[in-house]
Amino acid sequence: MTQRFGHWINGDWRDPSGGTWLASTQPGTDAVVCEIAEGNAADIDAAAVAASAAAASWRDLKPIERGRRLMALSRALRERVDELGDLENREAGKAALMGPIEVHGSADYFEFYAGLVNLEAGEVLDLGPGFHSYTRREPFGVVGIITPWNAPLNQAARAAAPALAAGNTVVLKPSEITSASSLRLAELTAGAGIPDGVFNVVTGTGPAVGQPLVEHRSVCKVAFTGSLRAGREVGRIAGERIIPVTLELGGKSANIVFADADIGAAVQGSLRAFVLNTGQICSSGTRLLVQADIHDAFVEALVDASSQYAPFLGQLTTEAQFDKVNHYFEIAASEGAVAATGGRMADGWQPEITVYTNANNNLRIAREEIFGPVVAVIPFDDEESAIAIANDSDFGLAAGLWTRDISRAHRVASRLEAGQVFVNMWGTGIETPFGGYKQSGIGREKGIEALHHYTQVKSVTISL
Ligand code: NAD
Repeated sequence: MTQRFGHWINGDWRDPSGGTWLASTQPGTDAVVCEIAEGNAADIDAAAVAASAAAASWRDLKPIERGRRLMALSRALRERVDELGDLENREAGKAALMGPIEVHGSADYFEFYAGLVNLEAGEVLDLGPGFHSYTRREPFGVVGIITPWNAPLNQAARAAAPALAAGNTVVLKPSEITSASSLRLAELTAGAGIPDGVFNVVTGTGPAVGQPLVEHRSVCKVAFTGSLRAGREVGRIAGERIIPVTLELGGKSANIVFADADIGAAVQGSLRAFVLNTGQICSSGTRLLVQADIHDAFVEALVDASSQYAPFLGQLTTEAQFDKVNHYFEIAASEGAVAATGGRMADGWQPEITVYTNANNNLRIAREEIFGPVVAVIPFDDEESAIAIANDSDFGLAAGLWTRDISRAHRVASRLEAGQVFVNMWGTGIETPFGGYKQSGIGREKGIEALHHYTQVKSVTISL
């Protein structure tokens, strides 16, 4: 029998108030993974009311106690790595090895912020004799979290862990395409000692559930991860309501390989940068800038090594995404780009690893997010031109550079317009702040910065 998930509201399952359900199918097949509740504004209201009522019980716990319970949630996730990894893989069409990696990554968030809870302290300010002045970092209250389909559990944990650690309660709306792992996470909160109403999940579509969540009067802060289009909508509503919003949006990140780099390492890292999760990662390095002297040899080595990355390929998660990647294969051909490898679907909704040459930064394949394992290789002459090409983008999520020259590494890193820069590597863990410059977003997740983002500062000044 098909597994059916209600909403998770106030520590229990709840049927959708509208009485209808949505089927979630395995990508590229007709196999139904589960059914989820089709939510509406009334369901959001029930969850927001529960989160509001639970706010004081959670906020007023000693921080170290909140941390203990988040740590218990982290352990519960790790104990179920096989089950949750399998669920995530089936619902999102991921390659077999991705699910367990993402479950451990999600558990890491709760562990990391469980350890940081007591660091979220204020400061003492010197106003001169006769005064004692200090700041406090206080939670907002109810935080609304909206996540996309590409790494659902991970993105839910990325926002929820610091939000909860800071003392907020949460209403999460996962993507209607991949909700199951977020619902299992919610169920696990009960066993971890997280009080009823502190963590709620309401499922359904963006317009029917996401929008009422952002509009709800009890929601005091929103953390949105997803497309630029929906991010604009969410940002507009948050602006009208004057509530803070974190927007984690798309990218077209530049990965620069200088001729003096360790070429073997750069080849491996550059493949990892755009192939992982079938290329469905916002911070993928999809513009590969290669110094002209080594361009041809580098492309040859990249193509030769590409088959090693096949285990990271699964199915594209949605039919729309399958159509989109196919469409960009056509656009690339019409723009005169040459596929050194790939340029077509391999199996069902699974694309081949695709490396385009004869490309420049003005092509649509170099300017628009494709969200598939597709890279455009763009030659450059010198450091200045590499920086200029890298920064010539509407996005600024991540950037990478490969060089053996330590001075160049710092010089270039400081001038790249991106929220995170990787040198002689691609991608980092949860300790480093993550977020976008330009149209890649507003605010930061990960690191202690995320904890700050889920608090507001109050100053208290006393005349002595
Ligand atoms: P999407 O914007 O279509 O959907 C994201 C979420 O927003 C879903 O839960 C959806 O139901 C909801 N939503 C849609 N319209 C809404 C509205 N009007 N109001 C409120 N909520 C609404 O994005 P997607 O297709 O699910 O995900 C892919 C996009 O996400 C890509 O652009 C990718 O780059 C981006 N992304 C960014 C990051 C990051 O951290 N920067 C991480 C992963 C994905």
